[in-house]
Amino acid sequence: IPDILKVLPHLRSGKEKEIRVPHLCPVCGSKVIKAEGEVAYRCSKKNCGAILREKIYHFVSKNAFDIVGVGPKIVDRFLDEGLIKDAADLFLLKEEDIEHLERFAEKSANNIISAIQSKKEIKLEKFLFALSILHVGEETALDLARHFYHKFRLNSGWELLKKIQEASIESLQEIPEIGPRVAESIYGWFRDEKNLEFLNKLKRVGVKVIVEQKAKSDQRLRDKTFVLTGELESMTRELAKEKIRELGGDVSGSVSKSTDFVIAGANPGSKLEKAKKLGIKILSEQEFLKLIK
Ligand SMILES: [Zn+2]
Repeated sequence: IPDILKVLPHLRSGKEKEIRVPHLCPVCGSKVIKAEGEVAYRCSKKNCGAILREKIYHFVSKNAFDIVGVGPKIVDRFLDEGLIKDAADLFLLKEEDIEHLERFAEKSANNIISAIQSKKEIKLEKFLFALSILHVGEETALDLARHFYHKFRLNSGWELLKKIQEASIESLQEIPEIGPRVAESIYGWFRDEKNLEFLNKLKRVGVKVIVEQKAKSDQRLRDKTFVLTGELESMTRELAKEKIRELGGDVSGSVSKSTDFVIAGANPGSKLEKAKKLGIKILSEQEFLKLIK
């Protein structure tokens, strides 16, 4: 996040020019906007050609689909020749579609098509990152993928994606690292008809979203169900839930016979009473910390 701490005027050469931010997008002519509290200026048109182009560059880039050898130059070529309209179209390209184009440097049509086809399978976090959702960088994409995996334990990336799509702003904010602005951006992205069409298209062309099964090898809380009550001092409740899930445990909102542990923080509620009645093991915060250490 760009943040200016200090200006260093002694480093100026005298040749500096004042930067004038355009009011209109130089590519599509739409109004340029700047959201309150943000640094970036953006074109206000959703399907602005320049934005679309950048989105495809981002889609094929190393930390996204990582389509080796297909960089901005080749993407430009495909767009300008009318061979693709969006990133999903890349997967529909055939050798004969591109072999008539002048050779791209050293790369043959065959190389390019096989590079694209070899990247149809992608991890959920990379896929989320590739979508160009505003405010969703690599870290947030990873947080999202992990959180939803631990919450729903689904092994299909597309199914997990559906859960993310259906999540409310509130439930997205349950993720410790995700604040209101990011949650709203994610929520909004999945409610835009064009984006949903794009997702469907990716699915249709055969993109396979996978979940990495490297669930932490330490699964010491496997099959144990926890209920939290009261306030914890050392961490938020959401973080505690996340830790439990990471170690293979489950978190439930209410105490029942199938509860294994109740973690009682300060000012516990009626859940503690119920746990006592049912004879369920009650952990203090200290005991819980020891358990997950
Ligand atoms: Zn524009």
